[in-house]
Amino acid sequence: MGERNPYLVERLQGFGTTIFAEMSELASRTGAINLGQGFPDADGPDAVLEAAVAAMRAGHNQYPPGLGVPALRRAVADHQRRFYGLEVDPDTEVLVTAGASEAIAAAMLALVEPGDEVVVFEPYFDHYATSIALAGGRRRVVRLQEPDLRFDVADLEAAVGPNTRLILLNSPHNPAGKVFDANELAAVAAVAVEHDLLVVTDEVYEHLVFDDVRHIPMATLPGMAERTLTISSAGKSFGFTGWKVGWAMGSTDLVSAVVVAKQSLTYVSSGPFQHALVVALGLDDGYFAELAADLQAKRDLFCGGLTAAGFEVRPPSGTYYATADIRPLGFDDGIEFCLSLPERCGVVGVPSTVFYDDEAAGRHLVRFAFCKHPDVLSEAADRLATLAP
Ligand code: PMP
Repeated sequence: MGERNPYLVERLQGFGTTIFAEMSELASRTGAINLGQGFPDADGPDAVLEAAVAAMRAGHNQYPPGLGVPALRRAVADHQRRFYGLEVDPDTEVLVTAGASEAIAAAMLALVEPGDEVVVFEPYFDHYATSIALAGGRRRVVRLQEPDLRFDVADLEAAVGPNTRLILLNSPHNPAGKVFDANELAAVAAVAVEHDLLVVTDEVYEHLVFDDVRHIPMATLPGMAERTLTISSAGKSFGFTGWKVGWAMGSTDLVSAVVVAKQSLTYVSSGPFQHALVVALGLDDGYFAELAADLQAKRDLFCGGLTAAGFEVRPPSGTYYATADIRPLGFDDGIEFCLSLPERCGVVGVPSTVFYDDEAAGRHLVRFAFCKHPDVLSEAADRLATLAP
């Protein structure tokens, strides 16, 4: 949360520069290993890179169509059918966006009236709070409770009132690393149906799930396809976070509503990359299995290292984030801890308190991104081990 800014509109007061920018800046200034912001330290598949170069060479360098390149919309629809058995019409039910970030902001601007309430699960990705505020909406949080990060359905019921417009869901969940199971999704769906709410579901980590956990898209639940806007992104599934290509899928009416807001944000973006992602979405099942297996090995390596260094860690079921409790090492303030960490031992993490409305709730937690080369993770763990009292 930032200082008051005399120029900033009231509804955005309190939001400063995101913590990720701040921590990445700290990492580059100090030369520390940056496990703050979630981006891989290796590029995605060569075939996809080559397709991007070829798309530029082939002259796909002007504005793409408003909804996105048709071949990409078809590839997104094929992906939904292939992995989840969902039927999505590529002509009217898919919108390509400047990353999932734009899809989320455009969805809030298009679907939320000033004063409407949006229910989110806490901790939450901080972009949700600003996007809701941009629209003049108000967030109501439902806590994912320690230690197993489940939520109480009574809390969800209590968060819903006459002004609730939608539930903003995120599974697999950043920062918690939680993947909502069938029962939890059914409980969310039941509340949405009972109160006639939309669900905007951020599934950018859909392919990053571990062990025998399965990602279940909200839109596959009975009666939910027509009230759900599903958002995903090429950044996480293919390791090209800088390309900023995402997509939103839902009924024709929902998608057309989001288009109205989206076209006043970027209008369109990432022309040649959209062509390249047709190749990415068409990669064989082996690619997606390997992506998850590779990250799972990194999770095990890094969480093992954190545990050996004295942190208490809950290994995530999905995403590429591990949350560590710093109290066993004698610390209790994550912000202070993260600000001094580069100097103490040359590592950057993110204080989890930024993901909570109730700052006390995440005060003792720090989030580390483990989407890095194994040598980098081992080195980071070794450095963190020097903190032990
Ligand atoms: N949603 C979640 C939960 C994320 O963690 C992120 C990236 N950190 C995004 C959306 C943003 O995705 P993109 O880079 O495609 O805008």
